[in-house]
Amino acid sequence: MKHYDYLVVGAGLFGAVFAGEAARRGKRVLVIDRREHIAGNVYTERIDGINVHRYGAHIFHTNRDNVWNYVNRFATFNRFTNSPVANWHGELYSLPFNMYTFNRMWGVVTPEQAYEKIESQRRAAGIGEPKNLEEQAISLVGTDIYEKLIKGYTEKQWGRPCRELPAFIIKRLPVRFTFDNNYFNARYQGIPIGGYTEMVRRMLEGADVELGIDYLTDRASLKTVADRVIYTGAIDAYFDYSLGCLQYRSVRFETERLEIPNFQGNAAVNYTDRETPFTRIIEHKWFEFGLDENGRELPTTIISREYSSAWNKGDEPYYPVNDEKNTLLYEKYRVLSEKEPNVVFGGRLGEYKYYDMDAVIASALDLCDREL
Ligand code: UDP
Repeated sequence: MKHYDYLVVGAGLFGAVFAGEAARRGKRVLVIDRREHIAGNVYTERIDGINVHRYGAHIFHTNRDNVWNYVNRFATFNRFTNSPVANWHGELYSLPFNMYTFNRMWGVVTPEQAYEKIESQRRAAGIGEPKNLEEQAISLVGTDIYEKLIKGYTEKQWGRPCRELPAFIIKRLPVRFTFDNNYFNARYQGIPIGGYTEMVRRMLEGADVELGIDYLTDRASLKTVADRVIYTGAIDAYFDYSLGCLQYRSVRFETERLEIPNFQGNAAVNYTDRETPFTRIIEHKWFEFGLDENGRELPTTIISREYSSAWNKGDEPYYPVNDEKNTLLYEKYRVLSEKEPNVVFGGRLGEYKYYDMDAVIASALDLCDREL
């Protein structure tokens, strides 16, 4: 077998950015992935002219000029703006929390009225400095919105009470006293035209790629293939869970093709009540305005219901659970990882971090600066 400077384990965003950069700087790079496809969880598969987000909705957004310029070298982005709708027992609300939401919830018309309503609910709940997600949510948007749009969704998503979750999770969402339902505050936003898989394929140009290879199973033979390893898999799996399992949330998708042009009129509808078993439905065609690559309207549609579940060994890990217990355990694994000669750990699973796509790319580019 050919000898390489780098073996990159994982063909997701972190691995692809590093591998492509290394190859372009004259390094010999082999990328392996245990899945049969590249692009990790941003993988899109084209079915009936629709780019289906197989591992859940990915909407690229960033404030980082360097990352935006970087991704635009590999794809052209469309003007998709994420504005999910919340469905609570059939009542529809605008997300993120903004004047449309407040008007629908309370009939208030001005920002001042909305602010007063939230303030009075916050006072009634006796919230001081928020210590957990529940207190943080009530303090930001009051009890009505917490009860209808946050509590059920969050408890389904994370599988534990909001009082036991860290406040930072809910701070991801903007709260606005304007009629602006753009889910993100980021300066740049969009979806790569032609799908994420094609973007990642272009990022990887210059590196060798082999799919269906599990590093952890073939570790002994793969160790000698390259001088250095960039490992983007789960850090606890790398160490055979020797200090215990980190917790993750897993997600299951039920994907269905429907012989109708329009199922829900939006890319994402969140089901925020506790009784609906799934957290959201994605209708993939709306990420690209319902049009195929030639600009023609698509006659059919594909939807995915998303179910959140606890992670058990063997499941796909999606979201790291960044609570205190897991953060402490990760810290121990991180100390171990630093002693591992010629192996660098990176990305969502390698660093056990709730990473947005742009932050993953920024972190991979930082590694390139240090490593190459
Ligand atoms: N969230 C919520 N209601 C919603 C959408 C989000 O309560 O309708 C909360 C929930 O706790 C979730 C967090 O906000 O985990 C972050 O949401 P985001 O959409 O950023 O999650 P992701 O898209 O990463 O799954």
